Amino acid sequence: MTIRLRDLLLGFRELHLGEAPVIVHSSLKSFGPVEDGAQTVVHALGSAFGTVMVPTFTYKTMVTPLTGPADNAITYGSDGNQNRMAEFYTSKMPADPLMGIIPETLRRHPLARRSSHPIQSFAGINAEKFLAAQTMSNHLAPLGLLEQADGWVVLMGVDHTVNTSIHYAEKLAGRKQFVRWALTPKGVVECPGFPGCSAGFQSITTDMDKFTRKVQIGNGTVQALPLKMLFRAVISRLTKDPLALLCQQDDCERCNQIRKL
Ligand SMILES: [Zn+2]
Repeated sequence: MTIRLRDLLLGFRELHLGEAPVIVHSSLKSFGPVEDGAQTVVHALGSAFGTVMVPTFTYKTMVTPLTGPADNAITYGSDGNQNRMAEFYTSKMPADPLMGIIPETLRRHPLARRSSHPIQSFAGINAEKFLAAQTMSNHLAPLGLLEQADGWVVLMGVDHTVNTSIHYAEKLAGRKQFVRWALTPKGVVECPGFPGCSAGFQSITTDMDKFTRKVQIGNGTVQALPLKMLFRAVISRLTKDPLALLCQQDDCERCNQIRKL
């Protein structure tokens, strides 16, 4: 069955989010065939929600310096090849393919605007107010503002391991943040407040089940979660257990660094 615009609009309507602003994480493939692909999904998102934001992160700009602060989960001077391949950030740089095709398609929409962080920018339609909240020291601030505006996270065929809003709540809970560096036309720029690893985030599901709205569209499940409840759940988990939501991979530098501290 090919999914059409109407299927997406009906599905989004079933979430009953009203005029609430949303941050969307997505996998187009998870839905099965969609008529006109990501264009149709972006059209549907723009029509169904008053404000839509997506991550348009650009990891290609990242460089590793020779030295830097201690306890930063990074091996200084180790990434010569990566450094040589790094690209200068520009506002037209495509979103990293890790985020799927939908953010990049939305970024290119004529009504879309993008914030200017060289690693972790967001793009949005009718989201200027939220995008403007981003600063170099608080680059996830758009998500904080979204929470204050009773916003929702919409996970389209993806799980919490890509849910950036959990990083913002981790920061509010006082979890260690890291420093990373980006190549820009003005030179190498220090980016403080870089979050930890998200591979262990799926365990928040049990705390959020009762607040999560779900709808099936084709082969994909769309979940919507109120940011207020998500932030509360993450902060409460980390208050009870400072090692909550870390991943179990032995070689994960950032999770291991947090365990050490
Ligand atoms: Zn990890």
